[in-house]
Amino acid sequence: MSTSSTGTGIRNGRQYLAGLDDGREVWLAGKRVADVTTEPGLCRGAHTLAAFMDRQFDPKLADTLTYEEHGRRYGMSFLTPRTAQDVARRGAAFYEWATWSNGMFGRTPDYKNASVMAFAAGADFLAQGRPEFADNMRDYYAFVRDYDKVLTHTLVNPTFNHAQAKEGKYSDKVALQIVKETDAGIVVNGARLLATLGPHADEIEVFPSTLLTASPDNLPFAFAFALPVGTPGIRLICRDTYDLNQSRFDAPLASRFEEMDAVVVFDNVLVPWERVFMYREPLLCNRAFSETNAVIHMMHQVVCGKLAKAEFIVGLLCAMARATGKDKDMEVKAQIAEAMWIAESVRAFRYAAEGQAHADQRGVFMPLRRPLDTSRNLFPKMYPRLIELVQLLGSSSLMAIPCEADFSNGISGDVAQYFQTINLDSRERVGLFRLAHDVAISAFGSRQTLYERFFFGPQIIMASIYYDLYNKDEMIARVEELLKQG
Ligand SMILES: Cc1cc2nc3c(=O)[nH]c(=O)nc-3n(C[C@H](O)[C@H](O)[C@H](O)COP(=O)(O)OP(=O)(O)OC[C@H]3O[C@@H](n4cnc5c(N)ncnc54)[C@H](O)[C@@H]3O)c2cc1C
Repeated sequence: MSTSSTGTGIRNGRQYLAGLDDGREVWLAGKRVADVTTEPGLCRGAHTLAAFMDRQFDPKLADTLTYEEHGRRYGMSFLTPRTAQDVARRGAAFYEWATWSNGMFGRTPDYKNASVMAFAAGADFLAQGRPEFADNMRDYYAFVRDYDKVLTHTLVNPTFNHAQAKEGKYSDKVALQIVKETDAGIVVNGARLLATLGPHADEIEVFPSTLLTASPDNLPFAFAFALPVGTPGIRLICRDTYDLNQSRFDAPLASRFEEMDAVVVFDNVLVPWERVFMYREPLLCNRAFSETNAVIHMMHQVVCGKLAKAEFIVGLLCAMARATGKDKDMEVKAQIAEAMWIAESVRAFRYAAEGQAHADQRGVFMPLRRPLDTSRNLFPKMYPRLIELVQLLGSSSLMAIPCEADFSNGISGDVAQYFQTINLDSRERVGLFRLAHDVAISAFGSRQTLYERFFFGPQIIMASIYYDLYNKDEMIARVEELLKQG
């Protein structure tokens, strides 16, 4: 398993797709997938990501998406920010990537790149476990950057017994655990949740949770490592696909942005020592994402993506309202204004964080945590409201959606006649509301809502961390001061 760095920097889509031909074991709809780049239900997501990789070579976008070092161009998400301006450059790249899918392909590779960059910049933290773990991480960063690898991650053990899991203990029946240590590495067995983009990724990071804290005696479950997805013994068990092979017209989002989620089984998998970053150190694992600041750099990518997504929903709502002239109605304007406030709140969080960028304890610049953390706590509640607004505005128009074939079959006359509105002909109206359906009603759209609710972890735990970090004392002091005045 090479981590030597002789790659050429950014890869194009063809190179990316070729890399997925590695014998990986992916299971979908009851059978093993022979080739994720041709398998119905998976292939269009892979080709979408390939097209995104190609854009890294667009000369007009080069300065936004990439930076130059050692005569090579690398993805901007790998740039270690040394100034506040670097933080803003990274934000601009995150936002650009997100606009290509309007935030509907949440796991573009820049998300994980942000984390790998931070772990490498903060590798001294890993040296507390063993000095060589810091070198392993720096080598891994160079490898991922130089070969422009696409990563997924699995941070969570399946819950077997909630009461036990709440105490930070995992069940050896289901959770991924160390079963053997050899001269070559460690052998792990068990399952992890939930690799979004897993079937389309080159590499999988198996790290501790960004949020959950393990108990100190949880030794066999406490580690961090990374492996190629094609490593023997790694099995990806996919949910149903939501790309049902419909046309772009019929399923404007699902036909493009199916990024797939998979439970990952590790069947006695050997992890070479050079790919191990933490080992049998529960307390270190608990602090890893916060003390390397990886969680902050990941939140930065997320807030930029959520901005693109919220803006898109605002655009969709406005177009829907305009279709029938509802946009003149005060109530409808008020509904859409609520979506606008959400988009503008996320924009404010992004720019407040970037505008207050500062050096961390190692001299690496990062955006201010508080606005990002506020966004990551609010968006899981705001996104379902955006979807509710689409449903409230769309109502039966979200069901009055004949398919593309109906425009050229025996009922094409009916469809051309009865689906028009004052501002749109039938084809335009059906196309728009099929898009709204894919955002708010379809299996693809429902999964987006679930994703926004949970992808960063349980909301209650994020909220409790936010509470703990908040500087409450000054505010409490003001209350006490008033009470003292009698
Ligand atoms: C669409 C989608 C995509 C996702 N993609 C990824 C991904 O790419 N990578 C990844 O790693 N994860 C991913 N996730 C998983 C996500 O991290 C988890 O869903 C989330 O952390 C909640 O965990 P859970 O679903 O296991 O729920 P739960 O079983 O309810 O909770 C998870 C853990 O939190 C503990 N817990 C719950 N409540 C409390 C409490 N009050 N106090 C203390 N502990 C508590 C539980 O005991 C358990 O250990 C994804 C989830 C979704 C829905």
